Amino acid sequence: MEDYVVFGDLSMTKDQLQKKITKLAEKWLIILGLRNWVNINLQVSEESCPRGKDTVATAYPEWEYRHATIEFYLPACQEIDDDKLEYFFVHECCHILVNEMASKKKGARKHEERTVTQLAQAFLWTWKDGAGTLEKPTYKNRKPK
Ligand SMILES: [Zn+2]
Repeated sequence: MEDYVVFGDLSMTKDQLQKKITKLAEKWLIILGLRNWVNINLQVSEESCPRGKDTVATAYPEWEYRHATIEFYLPACQEIDDDKLEYFFVHECCHILVNEMASKKKGARKHEERTVTQLAQAFLWTWKDGAGTLEKPTYKNRKPK
């Protein structure tokens, strides 16, 4: 068995996690174009995910109604740092974005996971290396070509 290193905060409470998630939502739902959905419900469970204790979050999109729920699992969230939590937030939002194209065919879930992993990384890289602000660029503060 390998040593397991924890980078998170094992004492983080449900309320503290809810605050972090709300802050991530204020930033990322705008960037990802999900603010015009009818409802994005963000929940925190104090239990581990029934499908696996290392699962940080699960998205339940209902794209046809523009409703979605993302459930975060406190025990797994306590074991990761804020950067990883942000990655998983964006990853689950990407599941919401692509869910309309999801298929029940064998192996399709792996394709979706690969796609949303790549998209989440691309969004995070673009954010960090690019805009880095939610302020809309104006002609005055735009860099000259
Ligand atoms: Zn996923």
